[in-house]
Amino acid sequence: MPIDDDDLFIEDDSTDDPSQASNAPVRSWKIAIVDDDEDVHKTTCFALQYTQILNRPLEFIHTYSKEETRRVFANESDIAVILLDVVMETEQAGLELVSFIREELKWRDTRIILRTGQPGYAPEEEAIRNFDINDYKTKNELTRKKLLTSLTAAIRSYEQICTIDASRRGLHQIILSSASFTFDHGIQAFAAGVITQIAALCGVPPEGLLCAQGELNEGENGQQFNVIASAGHYSRLMNCTIDEIGDVNIQNALTHVLTHRESLFNEHNMTLYFSGRGNRPLAAYIDLPYALSEINHNLLEVFCSNLGVCLDNLSLVNQLKNHAYRDQLLKLPNRLKFIDHINDLIKAKRPQQMLALVDIDDFAEINDVLGHHYGDLLLKAVADRLRSDLGNDIFLARISGDVFGLLGHQAQLHPDHLKQLFSAPFIFDDTAHAVSTSTGMVELSGYETDGAEALKDASIALKRSKTYQRGSYTLFTRKMGLEIRERATLMQHLHAAFDAERLFLMYQPQIELSTQRFIGLEALIRWRTDDGQMIPPTDFIPLAEYSGLIVSLGAWVLRTACFLMVRLQKAGIAPERMAVNVSVVQFRQDDFVENVRKALADSGLRPENLELEITESVTMASASMFESRLHELKKMGINIAIDDFGTGFSSLSYLDKLPVDRLKIDRAFVQQIDTPEGPRIAELITQLGKKLGLSVIAEGIETQTHLDTLQAMGCHEGQGFLIGRPIPEDMLLEWIKARV
Ligand code: C2E
Ligand code: CA
Ligand code: CA
Repeated sequence: MPIDDDDLFIEDDSTDDPSQASNAPVRSWKIAIVDDDEDVHKTTCFALQYTQILNRPLEFIHTYSKEETRRVFANESDIAVILLDVVMETEQAGLELVSFIREELKWRDTRIILRTGQPGYAPEEEAIRNFDINDYKTKNELTRKKLLTSLTAAIRSYEQICTIDASRRGLHQIILSSASFTFDHGIQAFAAGVITQIAALCGVPPEGLLCAQGELNEGENGQQFNVIASAGHYSRLMNCTIDEIGDVNIQNALTHVLTHRESLFNEHNMTLYFSGRGNRPLAAYIDLPYALSEINHNLLEVFCSNLGVCLDNLSLVNQLKNHAYRDQLLKLPNRLKFIDHINDLIKAKRPQQMLALVDIDDFAEINDVLGHHYGDLLLKAVADRLRSDLGNDIFLARISGDVFGLLGHQAQLHPDHLKQLFSAPFIFDDTAHAVSTSTGMVELSGYETDGAEALKDASIALKRSKTYQRGSYTLFTRKMGLEIRERATLMQHLHAAFDAERLFLMYQPQIELSTQRFIGLEALIRWRTDDGQMIPPTDFIPLAEYSGLIVSLGAWVLRTACFLMVRLQKAGIAPERMAVNVSVVQFRQDDFVENVRKALADSGLRPENLELEITESVTMASASMFESRLHELKKMGINIAIDDFGTGFSSLSYLDKLPVDRLKIDRAFVQQIDTPEGPRIAELITQLGKKLGLSVIAEGIETQTHLDTLQAMGCHEGQGFLIGRPIPEDMLLEWIKARV
């Protein structure tokens, strides 16, 4: 196909002398010429020889058919422009190639200029749009000048597309890489990541090193810059100082960057500057196979400042670590660090190691009365004394507010020695301040693994000292631990049992002694564990009180008993009263009366059919609150009995004022009837009840003698195994029928 050669040799400004090109590896634009006409290849090449476009030479790839092109392109990349013949082995060969390039190779940046001999073979406009064809030329139009114009336009547009793409990818990479920096492995791992990420960002191999001043996080002594990360053939320079690097250019570049605080870009390398606020600077030297474009410079700037933020975070993390392990007021290791140290000692299996917790007695009061400033001064003084007297062999930490932890050989941590430490008063503000301390100790030899466990045990011992005798010391014993742990396990199980409805009620009948009439029931709680074991309420009620579970537990007992009572009433076999035990803890709750009212309302039980049993010790403890609350209950019409009467310390005059219906003689006094003591106390209580106009009921009646004796002395009512054991609801019906 003839080409109009007239214009072919017109000089063009963009033609540069290739000899002027530098020695740097030259990057060229790849231009593919796809045409089945050999002449077209020749003339195109000839027309474009020595031509540079946008400062780069052209490199040609020649193919002659659709099939060949598919093969060649499969192993190619970065082709800037394709000059593509439309008609080759078939009329559609060129267009089919376009679809191959865009859809299969997914080359979206590559610009395509279609060429055809005959204008009649112009592709549909739609094809041009769909396949992103840049230009459409008849071969006649491909004079040198026109060729150059279209190629320049195509290459410029190719470069722009690549740039946009690169910066999009670059930004993505920066975001990814920033996120991938973790601080877990410290500054070195971080630095190694920096080199990798820069290389990935610029699409160059990771050849480089990273310098930082001294240690980044600790000490002021490191004035020298060291290589803290290195990759590629710089690996051997790890940990060298700048002076030891051995390459003057690199040394100079790093020194320049670190002193002038700016990045340096050269054709074959770059040296980047990273500043973190409050941090010592970092510099990275990276080899470049070719000069980087403007866009890469911009991206690197973003990267460097982003990394500056990362560095700040790194130093923050270090500060946090410092905070996490050091007490800021006293500049002592804190609880966490203390536990670490216990663990170390346990692991090292050093003999006769002791852990002591020293607590300043009444520190809270000192703080309240004399102020926090004084409190802080005192803490510092105590810390100083411990430090100076015990020396560096003892590990000293602040465990919490006014509790110090000591670790070391037991000879040095002798309790007498510790006590003597505080015998002299502390003097500050020209005044002497006496301080007493309580101490809890534990020997580390018994621990296999857990430092936290040892600390907990020492706290248990300390608590004992504080509760039983301030200013004393307690050595933790196995027994102490077992007791507490058993309680803790039992408590957990109790909570679970309540949730799983493993708790249930039994009911014990009460009768009128003179007539044997069935007059009441006492609801008694039971706990059967999953393996069938019965745990007595005397074991778990104190736990439930201690943990507060008694509040919901008690409410449940009350409601369950009320509802049963109503069922018995509906069956026509109910006695006069249902008695329910109430714990002090429960009674103290602000909404206790309200809860009782609600249980009655919800079940429909009348208040005169309910009796609350409250122990004697409780009634005397918090008198005024107790009194008004009792009056409230009494006003509602509820019966009140004082349980375990005789075991507490009732003031008789006080008892007179309380709105109580019944005294309940404790089982112990009924049992006494069989002993030399005899029925004395039971009789006394009965007399007392009569004087106060109260009914008296005896519990724990096991024998006919008990019953006869009590009846003879005028005790009104009774309950006990002789009359009936506590039984579950389903056996109650039978018991009542048999009775009647
Ligand atoms: P308590 O209120 O003095 O209850 C009487 C206890 O004496 C019950 O023991 C009962 O089974 C037992 N008992 C009855 N008759 C005889 C007898 O003839 N001989 C002997 N040896 N014992 C007899 P239980 O059921 O083990 O309850 C023990 C304590 O647990 C109760 O003493 C009560 O203080 C507390 N308790 C039981 N249920 C509850 C409850 O629902 N709430 C609260 N707060 N405490 C409860
Ligand atoms: Ca009772
Ligand atoms: Ca009792």
